[in-house]
Amino acid sequence: MTTVFQTRKGTVEAVNDISFSITKGETVAIVGESGSGKSVSALSILKLLESNGKVSSGAILFNDLNLAELSNEEIRKIRGKDIAMVFQDPMSCLDPVYTIGDQIIETIKIHEDLSKKEYVERAIELLRLVGLPDPENRIHTYPHQLSGGQRQRVMIAIALACRPSLIIADEPTTALDVTVQAQIMELLKDLQSKFETSILLVTHDLGVVAEMADRVVVVYAGQVVEQSSVIELFENPQHPYTEALMRSIPRIETDRNQRLQTIKGNVPSLDDTPTGCRFHPRCQFATEKCRVEEPPIFQVADNRISKCWLVDPDSDIEISYPSATK
Ligand code: SF4
Ligand code: MG
Repeated sequence: MTTVFQTRKGTVEAVNDISFSITKGETVAIVGESGSGKSVSALSILKLLESNGKVSSGAILFNDLNLAELSNEEIRKIRGKDIAMVFQDPMSCLDPVYTIGDQIIETIKIHEDLSKKEYVERAIELLRLVGLPDPENRIHTYPHQLSGGQRQRVMIAIALACRPSLIIADEPTTALDVTVQAQIMELLKDLQSKFETSILLVTHDLGVVAEMADRVVVVYAGQVVEQSSVIELFENPQHPYTEALMRSIPRIETDRNQRLQTIKGNVPSLDDTPTGCRFHPRCQFATEKCRVEEPPIFQVADNRISKCWLVDPDSDIEISYPSATK
């Protein structure tokens, strides 16, 4: 899938030929620094891009449908019902002038025709499911009367309202403090095992990845650079960018906001991506070849790929990361 934006500078590719899949009940994390195209990939799936953006090529297969070919009207029927989204900032998605009960009921109404009493019961049941205390009374409260963590629970209740088979969660815990983060992640995992929901998790936080994901898609400058099971990724990264991300995980929880700041340099601007390997200006292993020739995607093992010349089976260079030695 490739996603482009029309800008004053012309057409900019925000996502370049990204490809991944999710199976039932699985959690796949898309990880990368901000500006790497991970949110754009997620938003592309549901046609939630800004009006100047569109998927220009490729397919987005969901069950037997190619979402990329659907009209806005058709995709609207899938949104919420089959695929739901949870965003970083619940306040921007919740309407301040309606009670949370009304907002949950609105979502159920889009796809189901029930009696008024049944709607209320379903809303209460959903709030109970996501662990909001006293749901019978809480359905009458307004978003501002809840804490950040409670609002995220409400967002998850809304996401679950139609029993979607896929939830796309874009930085769902980033705005929350560490304890609440852990609770929300626990909640998502519980609900996932209960309903066999698949989760596409977009995050810059490898701590969250380690906690939640089965498989990981590492993106850099709009491209997938590594894909792996979570265990293998952490044990033995096969791309220097992945390795650099790992090295930047702070040891102390209170340093979380400092995350990813230790990789030298910046994510390149998408209208001016480097030649050859897009990571080469920041890569400690970059060679002349890296500067000139874009590496293809190499299959390094079953279900593992890396877009780096170092894993080229025809090359005799070996990866040895300095930081891996204790
Ligand atoms: Fe580094 Fe070269 Fe691999 Fe790119 S291809 S990540 S520059 S070693
Ligand atoms: Mg984002």
